[in-house]
Amino acid sequence: MKATFCRASLLVQVNGEPQPTDSLALSPGRSSTTRSRILFHEAVHYWQELSHGFLIKLADEEWTRLRTYEEKGEVAGIGPVRREFDWQDPGIGFSARTLHECLARYWEIIAFGPAQVISLEWQLDRTAAHPDFQQAWKEARHSTPENASSSDDVYMAMLMIGGEYAAPFLAAWQQFGPDAAFVFPWLAHLALTTDRPTTSYAMLTNECGHELANEVSEILDDPAIPFTERYDSTMILLGPRAHLAFLRTLPHDSMTGYGLTAYSPSHLRTNPAYAATFDAVVTAASALATTRAGAIDCPAMGLGRGF
Ligand SMILES: [Zn+2]
Repeated sequence: MKATFCRASLLVQVNGEPQPTDSLALSPGRSSTTRSRILFHEAVHYWQELSHGFLIKLADEEWTRLRTYEEKGEVAGIGPVRREFDWQDPGIGFSARTLHECLARYWEIIAFGPAQVISLEWQLDRTAAHPDFQQAWKEARHSTPENASSSDDVYMAMLMIGGEYAAPFLAAWQQFGPDAAFVFPWLAHLALTTDRPTTSYAMLTNECGHELANEVSEILDDPAIPFTERYDSTMILLGPRAHLAFLRTLPHDSMTGYGLTAYSPSHLRTNPAYAATFDAVVTAASALATTRAGAIDCPAMGLGRGF
């Protein structure tokens, strides 16, 4: 089965036989894990699209080109945002497209569990590994509490399914070691809320990466955090620190903001899919604001008090 996310329509197109509606189709525990992983990956692109200002600007530019073609029959040239998306930064060797794709694969690994991704890749014979290594890896898994995955598993899973898109994660791993499993997603996420994601990612990595990695180590060493909550707690505690580092490091005029901030002044208001989606976002935010949850920022959508 193949699936693709279509930016202009916000739809995930699935290539295959129609299936009965299954509200649990995206659940990581489904028996058809391969199929649900493919769908999950494209669903992550959907949420990235709504969250990252840079991607909203890209959709805006492409929507405007499409409208021009429909109204005047003219095929406009590729715009500056698309060029930036595909531009491979010679200093770091990858593009914003790669960064965005790498982040989607990272979330795919986290959602399904690195250990499960690795096992499945071996089961399907998509990645070779010596049987002795597989056996040693399985035994190591069973000796950890709750059969938990480690940062090393995230790294190995990324090597297996990341392909050429793994480059940003592997570069972060080279600099920060296992702490990259926590630092990478925050830096990639924040870089995608700027006009020049790869340049921003390089600046953030060089100027605040080590500081954030040290904070990861401190959080992970905190004996008060139960083993099973380490991933969530570390990500939650690291978030505000990464945001502060972002505000301190990057020029404010390079920041696109989150989804809603970039959507509001865009031409996407004339795109029915985006208009309906962001109307629903605003409605949900208004409803949340009347509850206790309204006291909590929603930084991923750019709806909180702080953004
Ligand atoms: Zn993808």
